[in-house]
Amino acid sequence: MTTNDCLFCRIRDGQIPSPKLFEDDVCFAIADIAPQAPTHLLILPKQHIASLDALKGDEEVQIVGHLLAVAARLARAHGFADNGYRAVINCNTHGGQTVFHLHVHLLGGRQMGWPPG
Ligand code: AMP
Ligand code: ZN
Repeated sequence: MTTNDCLFCRIRDGQIPSPKLFEDDVCFAIADIAPQAPTHLLILPKQHIASLDALKGDEEVQIVGHLLAVAARLARAHGFADNGYRAVINCNTHGGQTVFHLHVHLLGGRQMGWPPG
């Protein structure tokens, strides 16, 4: 896949409009188009990495840590960190991944259930 075929690369490049709610050198955050909680954000690396299963090398591993740290900061900024929230990475088919550009879902503002579906 070229990055031009990738939905989230196209959003990164502004070819598909979706406001960036947060951005730094490594990643950006957008609102999920089909929210599953009062707040449902996606935190994505700027670099195209297909999935958690496709991570290569220490630099990409560190990007995942950065995505989770940004999720925690956004949860705090949105005011639901103390009540709690869920940060999820779906991986491959059984994990429910539908867009093959690595992303962390940040879901907050309601009680979550366990186990997930
Ligand atoms: P996953 O199933 O974990 O790969 O998550 C992909 C997510 O992307 C889903 O929660 C979708 O609702 C979301 N999504 C799909 N298209 C868009 C879009 N254009 N803008 C924002 N979120 C999207
Ligand atoms: Zn991509």
